[in-house]
This record gives sequence, C-alpha cells and structure tokens, in this order.
Amino acid sequence: MTMTKASYDFDFAVAGGGPAGTSAAISLGQRGHSVVLFERHTFPRFHIGESLLSTANDAFAALGVAERIEAACFPEKWGARLYTHDARSGRYVDFTDVREVTRPQTYQVCRQQFDQILLERAREVGVDVREGCDVIACEFAPDTAILDVACRVDAATRRVRVRALVDATGRGGLIARKFNLRTEEPLLANIAIFSHYTGVPRLEGPRPDDIRLIARSDAGWFWLIPISKELMSVGVVLPKQLYRKLANGSAEETLNRAISDTPIVAEFMREARREWPVRVEKDFSYSASTYAGHRWILAGDAGSFLDPVFSTGVSIAMESGIEAAAELHRALLKNNFSAANFAAFSRRQFVVGFYTPQFRDVFFSPEPPDLIFRSVVTILAGKWNPSLWTRFLNHMFFGLVSIQKRFNLTRLNFRRDPDAGYPTERAPKTRA
Ligand SMILES: Cc1cc2nc3c(=O)[nH]c(=O)nc-3n(C[C@H](O)[C@H](O)[C@H](O)COP(=O)(O)OP(=O)(O)OC[C@H]3O[C@@H](n4cnc5c(N)ncnc54)[C@H](O)[C@@H]3O)c2cc1C
Repeated sequence: MTMTKASYDFDFAVAGGGPAGTSAAISLGQRGHSVVLFERHTFPRFHIGESLLSTANDAFAALGVAERIEAACFPEKWGARLYTHDARSGRYVDFTDVREVTRPQTYQVCRQQFDQILLERAREVGVDVREGCDVIACEFAPDTAILDVACRVDAATRRVRVRALVDATGRGGLIARKFNLRTEEPLLANIAIFSHYTGVPRLEGPRPDDIRLIARSDAGWFWLIPISKELMSVGVVLPKQLYRKLANGSAEETLNRAISDTPIVAEFMREARREWPVRVEKDFSYSASTYAGHRWILAGDAGSFLDPVFSTGVSIAMESGIEAAAELHRALLKNNFSAANFAAFSRRQFVVGFYTPQFRDVFFSPEPPDLIFRSVVTILAGKWNPSLWTRFLNHMFFGLVSIQKRFNLTRLNFRRDPDAGYPTERAPKTRA
C-alpha cells in the first residue's frame, strides 16, 4: 500500500448503508482496506425498492452473501406479468428466456431484512459500521477527505480523515448537493403512492410470486410485489400532471381512487387489508453531471436514479458500489485520487419510452415478434451491456415504436388525449 505524509483514521469512508454503500464497503473490506461506514438510521429501517433483477445474483456472489440471501427465503422472481388496465392484453417477461445472465431467477425482498444482511456482511469483512451517524459535511484537501459526522448515541460531532469517500447517501445526495451536480429528468417527473397489504391473492401456476405490472389506460401504472409470504407491496406511479388531476384528499384516498378506477387492480385488491400507512415519494428521477471527483466517488442513487418501472435501482446500486470500490482500490495502488469516471449506462430510452402510449402499445401487444421481445427482456433482466445482436434487436424494437407513432402496427390500448397525463419535453432543470 502506498503511504502519503497525511495520517488517516481509515483508508476509506462510506456515507450511507443502503445497497450501494454496503456493496462498496464490503468490496473494499474484502480487499483488505480499512473502511468506516456511516449510516444515518439504526437498522432495520423501512425502504422502498423491493424487486430485483437477474444480475443481482452476480453481485451477491461477489459480495459473499448468495447463501444468506437464499436462506432468507425471499419470494422468488422469475420474471414479470404485464397487464393492461382491463386485462385485455398482457404478457409474460420470462427471465429464463435470457441467455446472457448467469442465473435468471432472482428475488423480491423486504428491504429491512435485505439491507440488514448486507450491513452485517460489511461488519463481517471488517468494516467499522456506525449506525445512527449522519455525515453532515465533507471537505476535500489535496491529500485528505475530511468528514464531519454527528452521532446520535452521544450527540457528539466527530471529524474523520480518510483517503477518499464513497457517497452512497441515496436521494440525500451529500456530494451532489454540495457541488450542485444534479439534473432532473424532465420526462420522468413522477410521483409514487404505495403501501404494504395482506390478503392480495398470489398468481396461479408455478411462479406465484412474480411481480405484476399494470399499465393504466392513462400514463400511470401499478406495481404488485410480494415481499414475504403475507405481504404485498402495492403502489401506483403517476406523472405529476396526472397526479394533480387525480389527487383530491389524502394520499390514501388518491391511492384508493387509483385502485378503484383500474379494473384489474381493483379485482386483485378486493380482499386486501392495508398494513402500513400510505407513503408518497416524488422527485426521484435525476442524473449527475459527473460521478467522481478529487477523493470522492458516487454510488447508487447518490449519483442517479431514473424510475422504478423496470425495478433497476437496487441491482444497479450494488453494481455501482462494487465498481466504486474497484475504482478506489486502483486509485490507492497508484496513490492517485484525481477524478475517476464510471461508464455511463444507457437505460434511459426504455424508461422514458414506457411513458409514451406507442411504446406501451408495442410492449403490451399480444403477439410481438418473439426474437425482438426476447432481446428487450435481456435488458430488463439487468444485462445493460448485452451482445451486439441483442443491441441490434433492441434497436429494431424502438424502430417498431417509431412506426407505431405514424401507423397503427398494433391495437391502440392506451389513451392519447391530453388528460392521459403523458409527460412532454421541456428544458432540464438543475437542482440546487
Ligand atoms: C417508488 C419507488 C419504487 C422503487 N422500486 C424499486 C424496485 O422495485 N426495485 C429496485 O431495485 N429499486 C426500486 N426503487 C429504487 C431503490 O429504492 C433505490 O434505487 C435503491 O434503494 C438505491 O440504493 P442506494 O444504496 O443507492 O440508496 P438508499 O437505499 O436510499 O440508501 C441510502 C442510505 O444512506 C443513508 N443516508 C442518507 N444520507 C446520509 C448521511 N448524510 N449520512 C449517513 N447516512 C445517510 C440513508 O439513511 C440510507 O440508508 C424504487 C424507488 C422508488 C422511488
């Protein structure tokens, strides 16, 4: 290990104990570095983001938690059932169709338990995990990253010096806010309203716990995600302009109204009993102008998040935490912590596409060309850098969506009127 003149309390600090932070901390710990992780809350704590992708299995193996995740008996996810609001059309996204992933079957998790497993694994590889500790400020000197940390247990604020910081503070965005790096995604200004329910019937057949994704007749959509034997996470996502039209009263009333005017969801929820208060999340779609700088690197939602529609968040958070650790390990070997950069992922086209009626018409059409749909499923299983052939077929899919804009290739399943609430392009806003 290369030594500099500065003295450090630890090699690295990680701010945030979600999947990105713990993945980065575990990976750094596995390489023998001294690491401290600060988490604002005391675990277990609630978090939304419950449905994983096939590629999460690679992260579990790398982090040494595959057996523990399996032993936790989380509901198995083999794919996604897609429905239109009236159930007249729909399809199955089958992850076993994907040849480019190591293991197709993944899970849907109760985040309290899932995040705790990762946090305990960090402790096990030697990370100094400090819960109830809020990183309230950070500074970057030429040879040190300096953190001020407020700890709840003794109400004291401490200064910690490290070689570099992984910012995994999620939407809080410690560094993104400090350096004003965030840009909103104008086409994804959505609001999510959700809760956990019992009494929602599982799917029939051999894969009862797959996620259900229901497109409303307007621009909104529902998720139904089993997260334990009893609990079903149920939520609706609405573009802001549509939300303003529907919202009238409390969040619970808005959610209930959205349920009752989406026929197939109303049917699923006939016997449902709500077990938690209804929660609302908004302003969750943004990117960053840069993902690494002098003695800092962003991982997971602290850098960017697009939209929950394809359940990408946690799997990407783990991947980016592992990548951040590899980047910092290389930087330490070279004793060079100048700006390092992650490869930019290109998922935006799919997510933004979902909020257009033409994409939905093609996506939900009863008979899409098999080969093309299979290539789409490869991306949706989390394989962001697929083979050239799969990329070509994905271009063909978006070609069909473009044609649908001019000619009706397939039945028009979704409303086009201005009140359907589809977002329209406007200039991106930089967030302070
Ligand atoms: C409505 C909705 C539905 C979603 N559904 C899914 C889904 O089905 N599947 C999926 O994969 N993803 C989903 N996501 C996304 C998912 O929630 C996130 O992408 C994922 O949690 C990101 O992990 P992370 O570790 O980057 O951040 P987080 O999980 O948010 O973790 C950040 C941690 O940092 C801590 N923290 C914050 N600030 C500080 C600080 N200053 N000091 C110390 N600690 C701090 C927080 O307490 C938190 O524990 C959804 C998101 C939304 C909004």
